[in-house]
Amino acid sequence: MAKLILPDNALATVLSTVHTPTDCLVSIIDAPGKVLQEDIICDIPVPPFDKAAVDGYACRRVDLQHKLLLNEVIAAGAVPTKPILEGTCSKVMTGAMMPPQSDMIFRVEEAGIDDQGLVQFIGQYSKDNICYQGEDVAKGELVLKRGAVISPADIGILASSGRLSVRVAKEIRCGVISTGSELVSPDATPVGSQIRNSNGFQIIAQVIDAGAKPVNYGMVPDITEDIEQVIQQSLTENEVTILSGGVAAGDFDFIPSLLVKAGVEILFQGVAIQPGKPMLFGVTKNGRVVFGLPGNPLAAFVQFELLVRTWIRKSYGSDNSLELMAYSLGFDYSRKKSEREKWELGYLTSDGLVNRVNYNGSSHHFALAVSNVLYKVPAGVSLLDKGARVDCIKIR
Ligand code: AMP
Ligand code: MG
Repeated sequence: MAKLILPDNALATVLSTVHTPTDCLVSIIDAPGKVLQEDIICDIPVPPFDKAAVDGYACRRVDLQHKLLLNEVIAAGAVPTKPILEGTCSKVMTGAMMPPQSDMIFRVEEAGIDDQGLVQFIGQYSKDNICYQGEDVAKGELVLKRGAVISPADIGILASSGRLSVRVAKEIRCGVISTGSELVSPDATPVGSQIRNSNGFQIIAQVIDAGAKPVNYGMVPDITEDIEQVIQQSLTENEVTILSGGVAAGDFDFIPSLLVKAGVEILFQGVAIQPGKPMLFGVTKNGRVVFGLPGNPLAAFVQFELLVRTWIRKSYGSDNSLELMAYSLGFDYSRKKSEREKWELGYLTSDGLVNRVNYNGSSHHFALAVSNVLYKVPAGVSLLDKGARVDCIKIR
């Protein structure tokens, strides 16, 4: 294998090939998870009128200590018909429009009604209890920025800003190819030297989670003609091709040479990282990209998170590169070899400490079930004290 590229250079190389997003219009209920391709400007002030914040009596503050004559009852959605003149009030429901010349509301719970039906404030002090026009958002204000990943928290904002549909990045198509003559379907019981294909499904799930569209080419044995044919097909049909297996230094690791034959320029093969050293990345003349993930399931998982997801996110126009968060280690960490940057599985607890998860290297992926973060141990570091800050990526 050629000289290993440093992880930062690998990421920079991958990101130098990102695509410009094309956009499409989707209903706002289909928008969560997608990347916004337009700035959203609110077309009205919100609230659009001075609005009652409580159920109560709208009056003038100067009259608060007086007995007040009731004008009318104003429901949400009704338009007041009478101004609040001296010595009067109107009963208002939460969300109702404030009657003209009122400047406050006292709550129904703090109102007394006498025998003649006059209303009196019986509390100690009352706030205004009014939501003023435009106090949430002014007309013309920028409320969501192009490039943001839309979350359910944004959907009400879109609706209040007058949007039933919104421009988002069009789904990026990712061909997924699982190579290896040992692979069998998950519903088969492996016999002899067979291994269940976990990577293919894992990668498809990661592609979906990253907001892209997987196209599954299934399992392909390590036979050059078969791999060649499926690589050609995926390169033609998709912006991204993701292979797993066949990129290491074994006798049947044909992928690199077959990619070159298919017109792919290999930008790197081999990264100084653990897990995922065999990682390969290439690009065609027309800008289609190929990720060759290692066959080991945990290595494939980690390299997808570090490189593929980041490429997809950037190609959707998101500002974020790798989404790192720093947390404190909950234990003393040590490793024997420290030449390569290492990404370890960990469990982040609610008190912000990353705890140890036990597993034995990149072929052991069941530890993913009890992990929720990957944390980074930089190259050259073999010891980290409890409490040391580590960069983390959340994986669930
Ligand atoms: P390779 O990168 O092809 O040398 O494969 C490395 C290891 O990963 C071998 O033990 C393979 O059997 C295993 N492996 C390769 N592809 C898959 C896959 N799709 N699902 C599960 N394990 C795999
Ligand atoms: Mg293989």
